[in-house]
Formats: sequence, structure tokens, C-alpha cells
Amino acid sequence: MRYEGALYRPPSEAYSLIVQATIGCSHNKCTFCSMYKDKKFRIRDTEEIMEDLILGRKYYENVRRIFLADGDALVIKTEELIKILQGIEVLFPECERIGIYGSPKSILNKSQEELLELKALGLGIVYLGVESGSDKILKDIKKGVDSAEMIEAGRKIVDAGIKLSVTLISGIGGKAFSTLHALESAKVLNEMKPHYIGLLTLLLEQGTKLYEDVKVGKFQLLSPKEVLEETRILVENLQVGNCIFRSNHASNYVALRGTLMEDKKLILKQIEEGLKIDGLDDKDYYRRL
Ligand code: SF4
Repeated sequence: MRYEGALYRPPSEAYSLIVQATIGCSHNKCTFCSMYKDKKFRIRDTEEIMEDLILGRKYYENVRRIFLADGDALVIKTEELIKILQGIEVLFPECERIGIYGSPKSILNKSQEELLELKALGLGIVYLGVESGSDKILKDIKKGVDSAEMIEAGRKIVDAGIKLSVTLISGIGGKAFSTLHALESAKVLNEMKPHYIGLLTLLLEQGTKLYEDVKVGKFQLLSPKEVLEETRILVENLQVGNCIFRSNHASNYVALRGTLMEDKKLILKQIEEGLKIDGLDDKDYYRRL
């Protein structure tokens, strides 16, 4: 397969055929993110994408899932996305689900009819980086939308019958806004009602604005214990049904997993047990800058 630069995909797309429909991220401004800093954003020609799909067909016999990368491939015009999805339908009749990253702005730019059309052509899941439900934090991290727009974007996906998988970042408000982050994020998720919630822990790389803020003392990272306390407030305030909650990414200190709402008590118990781990704060190796 032909790939340009570093490739990112959600953990649940680990066994998917990945095809780059865009290169880089159309937004590329979030202060904590280094993923696509080295790439100048562009949308690939549909013909080029089709060539990759034909190549994929030659290599792989049984393709159950396809993921359209890079960041925010949903920014592509609907008429071109339709051609890509129709091509997938012909080339991979066995494909059960097509996934894509969607920025809130790109989702908001699509009409409900367009999303329904994409769903009918196999778009099965959209991954949306919510990061935080707090307007203050969303502004600070330069996410490009406020919480009301974030909710509207998420609801559009759910209302179109497409699975919605969202990520939140533990510690993204720093010590100063940890409680605000947890409470406001729970509110946003309760309104959005995603099918999957993935909780990552803030991991900063050199070259990001937030990394520099930590270096000069403008932003205080949470300790592992504080991360878990923040997670406890978030989970306590979640009222989302039929939703898989995961906090088992490599960046997380304690692995949590369950289905909301039935496993809420179990998840809270796992957090309580995590808080009792001897030397929990010694696990701070991720955060040494
Ligand atoms: S977090 Fe997502 S939207 Fe923000 S710059 Fe990174 S890839 Fe783009």
C-alpha cells in the first residue's frame, strides 16, 4: 500500500484496511497535538484514492473494515466521498464497516441528508475528538468550536444512524480546570449520547504549544492520582445509555472498561481500587518533560 508520512488510526481500526483520503489534518491547530504537524494538509484526488483501493483489493482477500485516514477525511466534498464509498462497495462487497475521522466543523458542514446518504453507502462509524466539554478549555486548546457546536456535530452523526465514537483527554484542563473539565465533559456527553467514549490521558510531545506552556510553568500537568480523581468525577456525572466506555489506551494509568449505564458502579469501583495502588504517582513516567 502507498502511505505518506506517519499514519494514525483509532485502536478499533487495528485490523482495517487503511486508505489515506486526505493527507494531514484540515484544522491542525490544537495546542496539544503533534500528529500532523509535519504534513501540509491536502485532499487526495479521488482517482488516486481509487488506485489505492484497487491495490488493496490485490493484496487482501477478506476486508471486513476500511478506515479512511488521515485526520478529518470527512472534510472531503460529499460528491467525492460518495464516489469513494461506491468504489468500496464494488471492490469490497464483503466490507461491513467504513470508518472515518470527522472534525466537528466538517460534520457541521454536512447536511443531515448528506450524512444519511453516506450512511446508506456504508459509512458506519465516525470518530470525533471532543477532548473536553468545557468552553474555556476548548478555546484554550484551539479546538475551533465551542461545546454547543460540539454537541450539535455529535448529534448529527447519531441522528443519521451512524455510530459515534468520541475521545476525551484526561488532564487537558491542567490542575486549574480539572474539575471543570470533568463536569462540563459529562454534560456534553450526556447530550451527545455517543456509542463509544474513549478516555486518553494527556501526553505531550515536544514542539506543541502545550508542551512549551508546561516547560515555562503556565500549565500544570495532573499527577496519576489527580487523573483518576478527575475520571471519577466524570464517570459519576455520566448519564449515557448503551455506550461503551473505555480508558484502556497505553497512555492511561489504570485500564477501565464497561458498558454504560449498567457498569457505572463497576467502573467507579475500578477507579477506587486504582486510587489505592501503592506508588500510583510513581507511574508518572509518561509525564516527565
Ligand atoms: S487533535 Fe485532531 S483536529 Fe486537532 S490538530 Fe490534532 S488531528 Fe487535527
